[in-house]
Order: sequence, then structure tokens, then C-alpha cells
Amino acid sequence: MNDSRIAKKRRGNFGCPFVFLSFFMLAACTPEATETPAEESGDQIDLIVNGAHIVTMDAQGTVIENGAIAVDEGVILAIGSAAEIEAAYSAIETLDGDNRIVMPGIVNGHSHAAMTLLRGVADDLALMDWLQNYIFPAEVEFVDTQFVRIGTELACWEMIRGGTTTFVDMYYYPDTIAEVVDSCGMRALVSATVIDQRSPDAESASDSIAKGNGFIERWLGQNSRITPIFGPHANYTLNAEQLKATRAAAMQYGVPISIHVSESPFELQYSQDTYGMTSIELYESIGFFEGPTIAAHVVWPTDDEIAMLAERKVGVIHNPTSNMKIASGISPVAQMLEAGVRMGLGTDGAASNNDLDMWEEMRLAAFLQKVDRMDPEVLPATTVLGMATSGGATAIGLGDTIGSLEVGKRADLIQVAFEDVHHVPTYDVISHLVYVTDEQDVASVVVDGRVLMKERELLTIDTERVAAEATALAAKIHAALQERNQGD
Ligand SMILES: [Zn+2]
Repeated sequence: MNDSRIAKKRRGNFGCPFVFLSFFMLAACTPEATETPAEESGDQIDLIVNGAHIVTMDAQGTVIENGAIAVDEGVILAIGSAAEIEAAYSAIETLDGDNRIVMPGIVNGHSHAAMTLLRGVADDLALMDWLQNYIFPAEVEFVDTQFVRIGTELACWEMIRGGTTTFVDMYYYPDTIAEVVDSCGMRALVSATVIDQRSPDAESASDSIAKGNGFIERWLGQNSRITPIFGPHANYTLNAEQLKATRAAAMQYGVPISIHVSESPFELQYSQDTYGMTSIELYESIGFFEGPTIAAHVVWPTDDEIAMLAERKVGVIHNPTSNMKIASGISPVAQMLEAGVRMGLGTDGAASNNDLDMWEEMRLAAFLQKVDRMDPEVLPATTVLGMATSGGATAIGLGDTIGSLEVGKRADLIQVAFEDVHHVPTYDVISHLVYVTDEQDVASVVVDGRVLMKERELLTIDTERVAAEATALAAKIHAALQERNQGD
């Protein structure tokens, strides 16, 4: 392979203590600095990633041509021209940048990862019919820790190969989800799902909160890539008291909440009938938004509610494919962005999408807004790319850690190959990333400074084993569903 090499260390001690601290000090350091053999092994940094373009997604929208990023111990040490970085650093591993665009890893703000195993089980149905008559019963029957492990491994495989480095998950058996995230090397906010019905891992809302407390206690502060959070399902599967109790539990641990909000016309009607107000009014009235909240969907907010979401700094995750497939509606994304709402993008679960392709979400998010407003200028490519990276990171509360390529941030980044026919020629890199690139173009993926995929080869997931286990488990589910349908 010519994409990567073990860089030969050309110098010993750089003779400049600042070189590892600040790129801006590079000019003060001389390449001819003293050689100190005893320190040789300590002089090499972990990784240099080169790119024909580095799309940083910083606040200024900086794009560096023929650039490179120096990474050590999971942190971005320096960003600059490839020549500058090569002169200053020697790395154990280098990813070559020919025809490669480097950009921040993609943030999938809303998923139910293990539902990859229910992909295609029930399609073309309304949300409540789909949930109550197919998904919830199938989950109670089939979902256990083995299901969640295999399904989440499948999802991580699919996400890594598509350039997603961080996701916010809501599913059952969160310990198992967190274990898979740990082993595959991704970054995630993992929710303990709270729902007031018999579910695969709990009997009721209070039972799921109690189990959620245990999950949070086991994982909080244990792994810098994994944030345990609460995931109350919605205000039609939990009542106001249960929602308040979940928020209180989250506040007790200082963790965020991920929840479905204002998703469908059904939810709006249910909320009016049950609470005498909209979902967002309900959450505001019970103080739910006083802690950090990641709200999935938000398809039907009023103007006043949009202002409230902005003021409360609620992170809103737009899931265009799911909204289109289940016919939930068109979320007023452009209006929310204009109002200052923190917006990210998500796939939702693979049973309502039916894939975890964030490139498709970017394109559909842009196209939906344009056709909804009959205005091609809304949601331009840069804005959509921001929702998938820096904006998405802010929406899920990780804006200071990831989402853009800046010195001091964690090194979550991807290399996209611009060499397939659909990238030739390239006039505008960001236009191509949003309107042309697909999952197959993602060449390499780095999370927290660790290479998880290198030139399409997955390094942390045994894909043959996962595929075999998923196929075997799906055969059992398929047989059981057929038997059940014949019995009806
Ligand atoms: Zn969802």
C-alpha cells in the first residue's frame, strides 16, 4: 500500500520544547536541533494525516490546500501546510494525502444502532402502526444482549465505513452498547432508554430509570469516548411525572438527555388530548429543558417554540430520511437555524431509514428545505456540512471537544478519496462533499487519534464474524416472524 508509511525519524530532539505545544511556535524551532539518541523514541508523535485539502470546519471556515494534521495522544497538536508539518514532526504512522480530503469525523446525532438487525422487517407504515404493531412486539420478543451486541457492531461497522465517528444512541441494554463502542473505538453518547411499557430490558418507567441509574454509575467518567446519558423515549410513551423523574435523575448525575420531540402529527394530537398543550409546551412547563437536551426530529414546532428551543440551547437533530419515509413531515430546519437553534443531523434507526448513511442525510436535508421553501438558496452546502460536523457536535454538547479540526481538540477526522468519476473534476471541495460524496468514498477514519479504518480496511471490527453472527441471528428472527404470521 502506498497510502501510508512508517515515517522515518529524521531528527532526534527537535531542540524546541514548544514545538509540541503550539504550531505557532514552529518558526522558532530549528530543524538542525541537537540529536539526543536516548530520547529518540519519545520524539515521534503518533500520527500525521495529510490531505490535498483540509476542510477544518472552524468558525472561519478555513480550508488548507496541501495540508497536514499532527496528532499525538489523541489530540490535534498542529495543523498547517504539509511541508510545515513534515518539517516539524516525525510520526509513527502517516496517512498520505494524494486525492484525499481531510475533514472532521461526522456526528450522527440520533440513532438506534442495534436496529440494523430489524432493517426491512416492516416498511411503508405510519409511525404508530410501525411502532406498536411491529417494532415494539418484535423488540420484546427478540432483543437481548446478544441482539444488541451484534446489531450495534453492525451499526458501528456501517458508520465507520461511512465516516461517522460519533453517534448518539438510544436503545436497550446500554452497557452492551457501550462495550461495543469501547471495543470498536468510536465516540458515543449512549442512552439508557426510559419507556413506560414492558421493554426488552425493563418492565416500566420506574424500572428503566432505576436500571438507567446503574448504567450511568458504571460508565460516568470511565471512558473519555463514552458518555452515558438518559433516553426517555417520548411524551406518548411516558407521562409528565415520569418525564420529570427522568430529568431529575439526569440532573443528579449531570448528564444530558436524548428524546424524541414533536416528531409526528400523532404526537401533536396525543399531546393536545392528554396534556392540553403541545409537546414542547409540555417540556417547558415541567422544566424539562433546564438540563442539556438533545431533541430528535422537532418536525412541528411553532414560531414561539423555535425561539424557546434557541433560548434553552436545546440541540435539535434533524433526521430527513426517517421523516420522509414515515411521512412525519418537513422540519423547519432553515427557520430554526435562522433563529439560532443548535442543529445537527441524524439517521434515526436503520428500521426507519433504512441505512446509516450521513451523506444521504446531508443531501436530503438540503433538498427538503429548498423544495419546501421553493428557494434554492436556503441551507447551502457549507451549512449542511456544518450540521453534520461542528454544528452537530455543539448540538450534542461536544462542541468544545470535537466537530472541527483545531489545535487542542480530540483527533476525530476522516479522509475522503476524491478519485472516483463523480469527483472529477472538482471545482469546489465543499460542494462535492455535500452533493456528490457517498459512503464508498470514505477512505480512512481516525477517532481520538486511533486509526479505525485505513484505506477501506476496518481495523477494530472483525467484519467476517459480525456478518456471520448477524446472518445467523436474522435467520432465527425471520423464521419466528414467519411462524407468528402463519399463526395469525
Ligand atoms: Zn428515533
